[in-house]
Amino acid sequence: LKEHNARHLWHPMAHPADSLANPPQIIVGGEGVEIVDIDGHKSVDAVGGLWNVNLGYSCAPVKQAIAEQLDKLPYYSIFRGTTNDAVIELSTMLRDFFEPDGLSRAFFTSGGSDSVEIALRLARQYHKLRGEAGRIKFLSLKKGYHGTHTLGASVNGNANFRSAYEPLMPGCYHILAPYTYRNPFNETDPARLAQLCLAALEDEIRFQDPGTIAAFIMEPILGAGGVIPPHESFMPGVREICSKYGILLIADEVITAFGRTGSWSGSRHWGVKPDLLCCAKAITNGYFPFGAVMISDGVGEVFEKDETGKGSIGSGYTYSGHPVGAAAAIACLAETERLQVKDNAAARGEQLFRGLEALKHKHAVIGDVRGGHGLMCALELVADRETKAPIDKKTIGDVHRTTYENGAMVRVSGNNVILSPPLVLSEAHVDTILNALEAGFASVS
Ligand code: PMP
Repeated sequence: LKEHNARHLWHPMAHPADSLANPPQIIVGGEGVEIVDIDGHKSVDAVGGLWNVNLGYSCAPVKQAIAEQLDKLPYYSIFRGTTNDAVIELSTMLRDFFEPDGLSRAFFTSGGSDSVEIALRLARQYHKLRGEAGRIKFLSLKKGYHGTHTLGASVNGNANFRSAYEPLMPGCYHILAPYTYRNPFNETDPARLAQLCLAALEDEIRFQDPGTIAAFIMEPILGAGGVIPPHESFMPGVREICSKYGILLIADEVITAFGRTGSWSGSRHWGVKPDLLCCAKAITNGYFPFGAVMISDGVGEVFEKDETGKGSIGSGYTYSGHPVGAAAAIACLAETERLQVKDNAAARGEQLFRGLEALKHKHAVIGDVRGGHGLMCALELVADRETKAPIDKKTIGDVHRTTYENGAMVRVSGNNVILSPPLVLSEAHVDTILNALEAGFASVS
């Protein structure tokens, strides 16, 4: 089975030779916040699926909602002329959920990359409808991740994720991210670095000519780029600059929406109201591929008043507003609110972050610990703390494997160990993750 898995299953974001050399764990079961592999080994899932399984693996109300919807209406499209009742109910819930963020309309998609694609398209169309067809460029952050579709890949800040597919969309520019551990200024003060990055953003806008820029897209906390929380002044500063130049602010909250940061949205965490907000992942907790773009009244009204009659012609998916996905999302949102998972994310996130800082004092390979905003944390591993040279692949692989053997599945991305467990985990589960990591690091010390 392991050989077949490596040979005949194309693993996204991986090199086929790696899958042969280091056979991926075959996961066959999940219960609560734990997963079980094909050999019967249990571990706390400190990855939370792929940042999405916020409610754990045994969410009875979601299973029931899916089963009931499958019996009632397994599919009907929400394209021109038809809709379905499940998705109407979901849009009402989402409106209430995102009301504090100033977002009241939902465009449904099949996942995160789709949500990003739709948000970028809507941004361009918004400007066209307002008679500013010259606003076509997009700005984003270096280290940002925005999915795999062509527009999203073009705004991805990691050149490794772009280079194989270039030329991508012209007119996309990547701005310095507020990454305190490594930056060209060697600025170690997060507040000062945030100001430098904001200045870089404004410089780029002036250089490009503000009248040519459609939108700036950012994750409120950079996720796949290595969990990089900005200083609290950063996102409000971005909002101010975007408003000043008539540029739409798109919050890519595919990871951060629905409680992961300890707030209901990452934008709210920083006190910012974006014009468009992309979500996916935890909206259905992994039970169904689903996503949405939340749209502010200001943007929505421009489309409402459109006299060309085009609406959002050309944008939409067969599975936009899938009733089974909608039913899953309704149940997930209800559970997310009933359990107030954001509060547990904040408390357990604090415990995890403190535990990781304690690990750093013991293990020299840990160069940087990032977190402190809910259940999104990362350890950046280095061969040498002075030079910050990244750790070699074998050592990080050994940490990964030993941590797993000792009871916690973590994610390795480059020289980062990433932690994004379900938001419903207990104090004891956090201890299990920390003890497993301790064993992982002890094995390479
Ligand atoms: N945006 C962000 C911030 C993400 O983290 C991801 C996925 N990790 C995506 C977009 C793409 O989502 P999907 O994989 O569901 O297409």
